[in-house]
Order: sequence, then C-alpha cells, then structure tokens
Amino acid sequence: MNRDGVRKSIWQEEIKPFPAAINFETEYDVAIIGGGITGVSTAYQLQKSGKKCILIEAANIGFGTTGGTTAHINNFLDTTYSEATSKFGLEDAVLLYQSTVDAIGVIEKNISDNQIDCDFEKKTAQLFALDDKQSKQLDDILEGAEKVGCQMNLINNISFPIPFVRAVEIPGQAQFHPIKYIDALCRSFLNFGGTIVDNCFCKNHSEEEEWIVVKTSKGTIRARNLIYATHIPPGVNMLHFTNAPYRSYAMAFTLKNQNYPKELGYDLMDPYHYYRVHEINGEKLLIAGGEDHKTGHSEDTGVCFTNLENYVRQYFDVDVVKYSWSSQYYEPVDGFPYIGKMPGTSNVYTATGFRGNGMIFGTISSKIISELILTGNSPYKKLFSLSRVTPIACFTEFVRETATVVTDFIKDKLFVEKVSSLAEINEGEGKVVAYEGESYAIYKEKGGRVHVLKSTCPHAKCEVRWNSAEISWDCPCHGSRFSVNGEVLTAPSVTDLARIREKDL
Ligand SMILES: Cc1cc2nc3c(=O)[nH]c(=O)nc-3n(C[C@H](O)[C@H](O)[C@H](O)COP(=O)(O)OP(=O)(O)OC[C@H]3O[C@@H](n4cnc5c(N)ncnc54)[C@H](O)[C@@H]3O)c2cc1C
Repeated sequence: MNRDGVRKSIWQEEIKPFPAAINFETEYDVAIIGGGITGVSTAYQLQKSGKKCILIEAANIGFGTTGGTTAHINNFLDTTYSEATSKFGLEDAVLLYQSTVDAIGVIEKNISDNQIDCDFEKKTAQLFALDDKQSKQLDDILEGAEKVGCQMNLINNISFPIPFVRAVEIPGQAQFHPIKYIDALCRSFLNFGGTIVDNCFCKNHSEEEEWIVVKTSKGTIRARNLIYATHIPPGVNMLHFTNAPYRSYAMAFTLKNQNYPKELGYDLMDPYHYYRVHEINGEKLLIAGGEDHKTGHSEDTGVCFTNLENYVRQYFDVDVVKYSWSSQYYEPVDGFPYIGKMPGTSNVYTATGFRGNGMIFGTISSKIISELILTGNSPYKKLFSLSRVTPIACFTEFVRETATVVTDFIKDKLFVEKVSSLAEINEGEGKVVAYEGESYAIYKEKGGRVHVLKSTCPHAKCEVRWNSAEISWDCPCHGSRFSVNGEVLTAPSVTDLARIREKDL
C-alpha cells in the first residue's frame, strides 16, 4: 500500500492490496470519490442499504491522510465544547457532542457486524496542562464539557512521564488500526455487491438532468449522486476559503524501560502533542505527534521531526525510532466540519474540515450523507451544513490571517532563489527558483537526475513550496500536493504541475 508521501507510516506494512474492478459498469446510484475513512465508510453504508455504489480512488485505498493518521477515536474534540457553545450556542454544542457519541457507535457496530479484527480498544484519555496558562484553558475545557454532558474528571496523576500542573481523564475513548478497519469495510462493501476502482483519478463532473456525469482517468460513468470524499473537494469553491491545510508530524518509538502508557495522552501546547501506544508485529510502539504548521509554511519540514524527537526524548526513555511520517488535515474557519450537500448542486455531497478528529467526523459523514441520500434528512444536516452562516468576525480573521501569511511569504521571496545554472542545486534538494523571468520547481535526485516543473499550482495559481520531509511540492494556499514528477498527490488540484524538459531551460 502506498501513501501520499515518501515516508512509511506505522500502518502501511500490514496491508496487502486486494483485487479491484478492471471492468466496471457505467451507471450507478452513487459514485464515491476517495478511499479514506470517509469514502469507504460511506460506500459501505450506502451499498448495505441497497444502493448500487462505485468507489473510485486515485491511488490505493488508504493513500490519503487515513494512511497517515494516528487514529485516536475521541468524543472530545480540537474544537472544545466551550468554543462550540460560545460560537453556536449550547444546543448546537450538545448536538456536536452527540455526533461524536454516534460516530463511536457506528465504528463499534461496523466492527461487530463485520467481525473486523482491527486492534480496536476502548481507552481512557488524559488531557494535561503543562503551565498555568494551559491550566486556565483546561478549566475552560472542563466547564464546556460538563455543560454538554461529556464526562471529564480531575486527576492527580497521569501515566505520562511529563511534569504537569493540572490534568483530567476522559473515559469512553478508543483507538484502532485505521487501515485494517477500512480494508475490512472495503471487503464487506464488495461482498454486498459494491464496485471499487483504484488507480482511477476523478477529473471532473457535470450535472445533466437526472444524472451526474463523472469523468475519470478510466472512463466516464453516470451516477444519481456523487460524493467527494477527497478530504477537500476539487475545483475552486467557498470551501477553499473556509478551510486551511495543515501538516502534522508523527513518530513511533520503542522504549528501553517498557513503561508504555495505557491511556491516550494530550498536552495543551499550541500546537499540542498527542500520544498513544500500538502494537505492530508483536512490538509495542509509543506513537507521538505534533509540530503542526500550515502547509507550505515551514522552511524546513525535516526539522519538525528533529523537534518532535527531541521533545519526546526529554521525557521518555526512547530506544529506537521505528517510524516517522507526516500528513495533512484541514482547519475549518468556525471549528465545525462541513458535511453535506454542496451548495448550488442537486446531488453532489462532500465532507471536509475535520481538524484532527477525522476518525469521528469521517465516520459520522457516512451516516449523515447516507441519511441525506436515502431520506433527504439527518439530525446533523443543519449543524454541519456547507451553507451555514459563519460568524462574521471569525471568518474575516481567518481569511485575513491566511492571506497575510501567503502574501508575506511571497513578498519575502523566502522560497524563491535565483540560479544561473542547475549545478547550483545540490543532489537530494528541491528548490523553487527564478530563472530568466520564470519560476520553476526543481528537484535533483541523488545521482544527479533533475526534475523540472512549473512552480505554479494549477488549482488557484499560488506558488508551490518544497516539502523535504515527504519529498513533495506543497501548495501553501489550499493544500494541493504534487510528486517530484508533478503528479497530483493531494486534492484539491485535479491537474498536474506542468513538466518542463531540462533542455528547454
Ligand atoms: C498526522 C495526523 C494525525 C491525525 N490523527 C488523528 C487522530 O488521532 N484521530 C482522528 O480522529 N483524526 C486524526 N487525524 C485526521 C484524520 O486522519 C483525517 O481527518 C482523516 O483521515 C481524513 O479521512 P478522509 O477519508 O476524509 O480523507 P483521506 O484519507 O485523505 O482520503 C481521501 C482520498 O481521496 C483520494 N482522492 C483525492 N482526490 C481524488 C480524485 N480527484 N480522484 C480520486 N481519488 C481522489 C485520495 O487519494 C485519498 O486516498 C490526523 C491527521 C494527521 C495529519
């Protein structure tokens, strides 16, 4: 199984490819684009409910962030219940909490209905403040959780060897192996008569009377409903202004002293660190994550791993680093995900803006979108609606902040260098360079082979940045990512970076 980055995540090794359809029909009730937790869970749900579904994946199942997640399953969220209450009111905050409880129920039911062996375990989480400022934050989190009915208890000790000033425990959390889980759901989807087509890129769609015509790299199909489960939908639309792409970093370590914490753990730093343990091939590993930043806004992404490793080594008796990888998530402007029908369309749906809670929101998306397609309604339709009115102050701040950072970076020309010859680029290095009035994204492989691309992202014409950690070109505006050959790795772009022949330079 491959992933949208060169580093191997902890989940990748175990899963073998399974046969996908080579020939497929041309008419379906529902076409689902994207084989991550959102697409797979939704395809399974709809096929089981009697709809004829096709699941289309650009690469392989688990290629996107679901293959690079850390798979904590939480009913407390990156958007705290206090924030939810102050922005949307208590009633909506309670509904938000209810959606998380529902999502965990859906995962448990999927596992028991299909006898899935995916290392699912119920867990308690510990949330700890490292200083007085974080302690006030924790009080606020506690107060908000109490109001919506999410149980949190103050505790005196934590199972992490990290000095803290205040901590709570939250029962009823869980963890699993995300790829084992979606792989098993895919197999059940196939058993129910569903169709999976992998290595198939969805280029665009058009709405024609009762049908949606979907153009893919393997041909055209027609569907009554279309779901973009692509983590962020393609095309340029409002969702690209209301969701910002972020990278997060994760590492898995063995410990010399075998003191692996039993609980899930989180501090309250900004960005916060997250911890849990998973056994891979009989070996326990501590997974730690953090060092988040806006996509394309770190000069040297490799340093994020060094920072994370140094931080973990301060507190844990680390033996060996077994895995290190990074992946992408989306921050929504008002803290709530967007799940439902795309405005201005009749039957096109999507789900995005999950922050670091995509196991929950990807799963609840499968319930919401299925209900919308099957009955036209869902208890969460309004809460996560794509056309909800975003609080104005928050929206302006979000757009201003994103625009400022992008403009500053472009103004500083931090990433654009002038070169007079390709010899100025070292082997193993990627650079955006200005050359005779044009700008190019150039990567020189070890051994000297050079890959030259136009550095302008086809999606919204921003300039891409080099990601040394995952050997990719990342767009700082909306998070499209490209391989060194220019191929799209991550939505929303549906067009590759233009390739330039070396001799044209
Ligand atoms: C480092 C990290 C750790 C995280 N940890 C947690 C955690 O502990 N708990 C939690 O709840 N959440 C976590 N998250 C968030 C969570 O992993 C994601 O929100 C979730 O995996 C998103 O799933 P998805 O199915 O929506 O998208 P993806 O898994 O990204 O799947 C989208 C798929 O669509 C395909 N695709 C895209 N465009 C096209 C196209 N045009 N044609 C065909 N296919 C296409 C892609 O190839 C991809 O496979 C984490 C995120 C990161 C970055």
